[in-house]
Amino acid sequence: MQATIEKLGRRMPISKEMVVSTLAMTIGILLLVSGYGFYRVEKLSTQVNTLALALASTTAIFQIALSEATSTIDIALATERQNIQDKLGEVQDQVGSVTGTVDDLQKLSSIDSQLLAKYSKVFFLSDTYAPARLVEIPATYKYIENAPLQIIPEVLPYVEKMLDAAKDDGVDIYASSAYRSFNTQSALKGQYKVTYGAGTANSFSADQGYSEHQLGTTIDFITTGTGGILEGFDKKPAYQWMVQNAYRYGFVQSYPPGNGYYIYEPWHWRFVGVKLATSLHKSGTFFYQMDQRKIDTYLISLFD
Ligand SMILES: [Zn+2]
Repeated sequence: MQATIEKLGRRMPISKEMVVSTLAMTIGILLLVSGYGFYRVEKLSTQVNTLALALASTTAIFQIALSEATSTIDIALATERQNIQDKLGEVQDQVGSVTGTVDDLQKLSSIDSQLLAKYSKVFFLSDTYAPARLVEIPATYKYIENAPLQIIPEVLPYVEKMLDAAKDDGVDIYASSAYRSFNTQSALKGQYKVTYGAGTANSFSADQGYSEHQLGTTIDFITTGTGGILEGFDKKPAYQWMVQNAYRYGFVQSYPPGNGYYIYEPWHWRFVGVKLATSLHKSGTFFYQMDQRKIDTYLISLFD
């Protein structure tokens, strides 16, 4: 070392101080450079950390935003789905109610509205009116087995069930008279007039056109023990049975005691449907007391 310095010293005189200061400078520069390097690395590292933190926080924010957006979209979709379902439901309801209305109208158009109209001394039925169809009442339900007695086919099952139920209760009830055409009624009336005189005939046989028998839904019932006549029916258990049970089979007494429309006819029962008959029975009123518009609301359920 000493030799090298001396060799150098030979070419160019170098003092010890120069060497020392040069070394010190070099070391200083090296320190500065490495310090700066450290500083740079440190700074970069901080920047990287900051970036990483920022990235992490951005990611977190993004994830929150994404999850919020997702749930917002989910809610929006669910709401939209619900809206669509509601709309569909409404459409289905409308279609349903339209279908229901169409069904009701079809059903209603198949039922003869005359069958729930009031006919008595006060209300008139056209002389040309006749039921669309008539069937013969089976012999077992008729008082005179071979007498021709007809009613409309829709009512027959109710008559059969009612008279079977009465029989099960030990009560004999038979059909004595049923459908009568305008002409039959007219002839019958003439016959009564000849036999009893006009005044009496009016009191117990409706004028043609006023008779519910022309509808094919009305029956005069008779029981055993009255000598084959209608009078006295209300003195028999058969009448009490009818008062208590006929409504279950859709029959009502058209002219109960004290009605202002016609003479009291305990044997004369008209089919008005189970629903209306039950309503009248429960309210203790009778058919002719009810408003026609109210009665008409029962037409659709006449044969239910
Ligand atoms: Zn009658």
